[in-house]
Amino acid sequence: MTGVVTTVDPATGETLAEHPAWSDAQVDAALDRAAAVQPAWAARASADRSAVLHRAAALLRAGAEELALLVTREMGKPLAEARAEVDKCATGCDWYAAHAPALLADEPVDTPADRSWVGYEPVGVVLAVMPWNFPLWQVFRFAAPALMAGNAALLKHAPNTTGCALAVARVLAEAGAPEGLFTALVVAEPQVPTVTARLVADPRVGAVTLTGSERAGRAVGAAAGGAIKKSVLELGGSDPFVVLADADLPRVAALATRARYLNAGQSCISPKRFVVDTSVVEEFTGLLLAEVAALVVGDPTAPGTDVGPMARPDLRAAVHRQVEASVAAGARLLAGGRVLPGPGWFYAPTVLAGVRPGMPAYDEETFGPVAAVIEADGDDDAVRIANDTRFGLGASVWTADAARGVAVARRIRSGAVFVNAVVASDVRMPFGGTGASGYGRELAAAGIREFVNVRSWWVQ
Ligand code: NAP
Repeated sequence: MTGVVTTVDPATGETLAEHPAWSDAQVDAALDRAAAVQPAWAARASADRSAVLHRAAALLRAGAEELALLVTREMGKPLAEARAEVDKCATGCDWYAAHAPALLADEPVDTPADRSWVGYEPVGVVLAVMPWNFPLWQVFRFAAPALMAGNAALLKHAPNTTGCALAVARVLAEAGAPEGLFTALVVAEPQVPTVTARLVADPRVGAVTLTGSERAGRAVGAAAGGAIKKSVLELGGSDPFVVLADADLPRVAALATRARYLNAGQSCISPKRFVVDTSVVEEFTGLLLAEVAALVVGDPTAPGTDVGPMARPDLRAAVHRQVEASVAAGARLLAGGRVLPGPGWFYAPTVLAGVRPGMPAYDEETFGPVAAVIEADGDDDAVRIANDTRFGLGASVWTADAARGVAVARRIRSGAVFVNAVVASDVRMPFGGTGASGYGRELAAAGIREFVNVRSWWVQ
């Protein structure tokens, strides 16, 4: 394996760094080290592992400014969002450091045995394949529980955020993780599927977790199935944002805008289909357009910028194709729909109305700054439309009557549902999808239990 992984600033198109890709032998050596160091790490008192994670949290907070700038430079999100991401990572590390010992404590069970209990034991090395859109958070949300459970970890990060991958490895090493416990592998295309398949097949790798597209999920999930190995897949979404007739429209439109255009729309749990009751669709759309018109698009390092560039030119081209095809199929373009000129991969915040089945904005995930407004004829129709997707990650319902919101939400298929709040991940709550959005859960107790062998003990 040879080659170079080049990172590029999406706001300027300028090269940031060139990282030499690793040879097969280097990747194998990283796995050897991880497997060698893992048993001693698992044998440590859980308080020792907690201390490492707490130190990692402190280092993240101390280095927040530098890390946030690295995130912004590599993938283009506004600096304020990058700072919030660093802080969330620190919170996640602290949470698992504080709670993992209790979550993984032996659970005595009353049986005829002298002693019997359920133990939560490490699986060995966890392989993680991660995307670029929350390049620190997505790593910490698997690494904090995986390491606290006594596993070692290998990270195959998205190439455009290689600097972030290496920064996470540095933070954990400085926090006291033993050498080789966590390694960021630098792998160049086109070797990625081969390398990950080889790692997944290795008996020392106990589980694999992937956050990314359906395409990558199918490849890694198939490799894990072939190796009879546990996998967690966090894939795409086309989350419905259901606005019932009685919703507080000005508030809802403001939150809708914030949620949809955060991270230039490149979030798996960003609302993508705005399912709005016919009686209020005109008013809601007007309010949404006013909010969108006020968004500041530009340099993501400048204070006051709301929307930065998209992370890669191919992602922008893909979203633009979806918008054009939706308009060609009859959607009304009310805002944006344009590639913005100049260096960098900026796309104008876009609003489509009259979106219907058969249009990409209805049928597919739009991973960019595009809101699709879909009319619904009452609550039943809103539920039908919300569920009219192969995805099932998040969903939100907006209404003046929380009980009505809960009743509607119960009928929507998703891994998370929020009533009168924007869908967000929170380390205290499980996170994951249904259908084509994947399976397994991250975060909270469910997340740490994905990376353990739930073992029955019976002692006579
Ligand atoms: P992507 O192309 O699937 O890449 C994600 C990761 O998977 C990268 O590290 C990528 O490496 C790797 N990968 C791709 N194909 C692979 C294969 N055949 N075998 C092994 N690894 C492979 O996704 P993306 O376009 O960067 O990210 C956007 C997608 O991620 C969206 O669909 C989004 O909804 C989803 N996402 C989901 C969540 C969630 O929590 N559910 C969160 C964020 C994003 P290379 O780039 O080197 O190929």
